[in-house]
Amino acid sequence: MNEPTGLQPGLLLVLSAPSGAGKTTLAHRLLKEMPDGIFSTSVTTRRPRGKEQEGVDYHFVGVAAFQEKIEKGEFVEWAEVHGHFYGSPQSVVDEARTRRGTAIFDIDVQGGQAIKRKHPDAVLIFVLPPSMEELERRLRDRQTDSDETIRRRMLAARSEIERGIASYDYVVVNDDFERAYQELRSVVVAEKCRRGRVDLSKLKLGS
Ligand code: 5GP
Repeated sequence: MNEPTGLQPGLLLVLSAPSGAGKTTLAHRLLKEMPDGIFSTSVTTRRPRGKEQEGVDYHFVGVAAFQEKIEKGEFVEWAEVHGHFYGSPQSVVDEARTRRGTAIFDIDVQGGQAIKRKHPDAVLIFVLPPSMEELERRLRDRQTDSDETIRRRMLAARSEIERGIASYDYVVVNDDFERAYQELRSVVVAEKCRRGRVDLSKLKLGS
């Protein structure tokens, strides 16, 4: 099924950002407006937090079940983050390829880089907060984290941002949600129009 352009059918879209940059809200808006969107619900060994629901936010499993999935090749990528395992289902990639849909992975930079290694036609988008001060303000506004947790999250954010800027295909600055969303949407629309991604088989172009 390889196209001469090196692209395969379907679009694998990875969205990454430090927490507090607004990436999940952007991902959900995109999904709402894209009829061909397939959201990748990750599998994790961490316990559900707050109002999180099985099958919506994550698939919550035990460590043994997670390991079994690794052995069966059920993940396109998996990683250990803060002492828990997280993995993205291979089935989402397969579905995007067969249906020519757009798979959306809301994962971290190491996950995005792993997907790109396996699928060089994946498109990686990094969402940036307008400044480190604004990121810290957003984390504090949530009023859920202690000072120590915020300090740790800010350190992690700095390193995630450095790695994202160095290796991702696109950067969207989320200073104004609506403008950031329009930029994200424009990237997706343009990427879907790439030669090799457009399904020409049903067009009557003559011989
Ligand atoms: P949280 O536990 O706060 O929901 O997520 C912790 C981190 O794990 C976040 O940076 C999130 O993007 C990342 N993450 C969530 N799912 C996956 C996944 O399937 N693979 C990878 N590599 N990271 C993930």
